[in-house]
Amino acid sequence: MPELPEVETTRRGIAPHLTGRRITRLVVHDRRLRWPVAEDLPASVAGQRVLDVTRRAKYLLIALERGTLILHLGMSGSLRVLDAPPGRRLHDHLDIELDSGKLLRFNDPRRFGSLHFTAAPPGDHRLLAQLGPEPLDSEFTEEYLYRVTRNRRVAIKPLLMNSHVVVGVGNIYASEALFRAGVRPGRMARGLRRAEIARLVDGVREVLRMAIGVGGTTLRDYVGADGKPGYFRQKLFVYERAGQPCRRCGNPVRHRTQGQRSTYFCAHCQA
Ligand SMILES: [Zn+2]
Repeated sequence: MPELPEVETTRRGIAPHLTGRRITRLVVHDRRLRWPVAEDLPASVAGQRVLDVTRRAKYLLIALERGTLILHLGMSGSLRVLDAPPGRRLHDHLDIELDSGKLLRFNDPRRFGSLHFTAAPPGDHRLLAQLGPEPLDSEFTEEYLYRVTRNRRVAIKPLLMNSHVVVGVGNIYASEALFRAGVRPGRMARGLRRAEIARLVDGVREVLRMAIGVGGTTLRDYVGADGKPGYFRQKLFVYERAGQPCRRCGNPVRHRTQGQRSTYFCAHCQA
């Protein structure tokens, strides 16, 4: 599933092709995504120039002269910039045609992706309004995480994965950040000491920055905007490494099921 680093990698891949270009036509081949694409969406965006491509959590925001396209890759979505319109393949659902002659094509076998258009500020959209801070922004600080963990009767890992608390920290990156912080995933959030919280904030930032730097983790069917897989998987300390030696101490990495999610940790390196 594309997580924040994969979405950011995609953003960086597509932005140079979109920014400053005019959308000549948006073609919906199949409306049946997670939510049906609005019938009037193509008419709302046709002829508009793309001002910028940004990201909020795992949503790509394509800012237009009048309004914003909000695109989510879902579980299996990917975007490709294509030169000439080649034949559609299975699961190609959307084309955004540009005045450069290129087009941005959305493919999504599992159809958990989505496309919305809003004329209002995108932060007010129902999909974005309730989201917590971005992990790489200045709002996500030790003070912030310390404060939000104090009254929570919940383990730290699901708390980190709660998008109301902080966005874009999926299972892989929560597991890896906790390893870097030396904190076991099952610890009660409110029991974490200040120093542990500080290490965790650093760990989240570090793991996401590294993953973005190498173009994402690539799990199974994910590919970036340029069609190349990411390489972060080779750098994982614990995620999906059950029974293998910890890269730091050599003891076997442990596996637990926590809230129906697989979680991985080193009992020696994480307290
Ligand atoms: Zn270890």
